[in-house]
Amino acid sequence: MKRRDFIKKAAGGALVAASATTAAPAIAARKRFNWKLVTTWPPNFPIFQEGVEKFAKDIELMSDRNLRISVFAGGELVPALQTFDAVSQGTVQMGHGAAYYWAGKVPAAQFFTAVPFGMNAQGMNAWLYQGAGLNLWRDVYKPFNLMPFPMGNTGVQMGGWFRKKINSIDDLKGLKMRIPGLGGKVMAKAGVNPVLLAGGEIYTALERGTIDATEWVGPFHDQRLGLYRAAKNYYYPGWHEPGPVLELTCNLQAWQELPREYQIMIETAAAAANTWMLAEFEAKNLLALRELKQKYKVEVLEFPADVIKELRRLTDETLEEEANKDKTFRQVYQAYKSYRENNDTWNEISEAAYARALKL
Ligand code: CA
Repeated sequence: MKRRDFIKKAAGGALVAASATTAAPAIAARKRFNWKLVTTWPPNFPIFQEGVEKFAKDIELMSDRNLRISVFAGGELVPALQTFDAVSQGTVQMGHGAAYYWAGKVPAAQFFTAVPFGMNAQGMNAWLYQGAGLNLWRDVYKPFNLMPFPMGNTGVQMGGWFRKKINSIDDLKGLKMRIPGLGGKVMAKAGVNPVLLAGGEIYTALERGTIDATEWVGPFHDQRLGLYRAAKNYYYPGWHEPGPVLELTCNLQAWQELPREYQIMIETAAAAANTWMLAEFEAKNLLALRELKQKYKVEVLEFPADVIKELRRLTDETLEEEANKDKTFRQVYQAYKSYRENNDTWNEISEAAYARALKL
């Protein structure tokens, strides 16, 4: 018996030794990939571009430098808003941005970033990772030859900077406001004149009075843009962008050519970046908010309940109208809506109830 055990062990040991010696050359001979990733962000844009660069570095280390991803900011290789096409056509293998930038091509894509009065970061993660969200997103992007992944979330944004106070829905009438997407459409119904401006143009427009109000991101990024110098009324909550998801896209053929272990590295590093970015936003926003209030004497104000109620009514109207224009939009809207209803019911007695409890 003992002798047989010994032989078995010896044989097992030999097997282990053999696989250990053959494993090393197999890795060394592994095919190398030199990929390019283009983003929609300005160079050195904190958290957004920073998170993408961290993601690329993580993968380079995990793959023992066999999968190298060179990251380019918006305009460095292709213009920021051509990221979708560049990845779709295979000019580059990867892109990073936000799905709602492609609303003109794919109206339904907006649900995979944020819709007004939609789910927050926690709800979006639940829907995408554990609900039908991510599969639905992949179905919607498949005709464009793209494989999407959630990679980053700003958390709930701020409502925006206003030169004058908003006491009623009538105060919105006639305002020129920089607010993109569905939020802009809802605001237009409330009598606002929505204006589209890139990040770099916002401060001057607000300072000169070309616009009366603007939204951007949250305290940290808004402070960096210096918006507190051009308007003093800083409204919350960001009803129009309650938990915008950032996206990583991968060209479908490039994805399929990757060995499975590299695919897993990308999935894992994207999920890690998803968490890292949300944590960064939370940590930096709370410090910036304190500074805006204490140092720059910004008035941080909540939108009046009547204004929020009316914007919510106008949001439902807007989403219905958009659903009538596009079949895929309606399909995704229905799936999103039924998930959100359950999520809201649970949230009401979990996070929301807890937030109320803290104020008692
Ligand atoms: Ca925003």
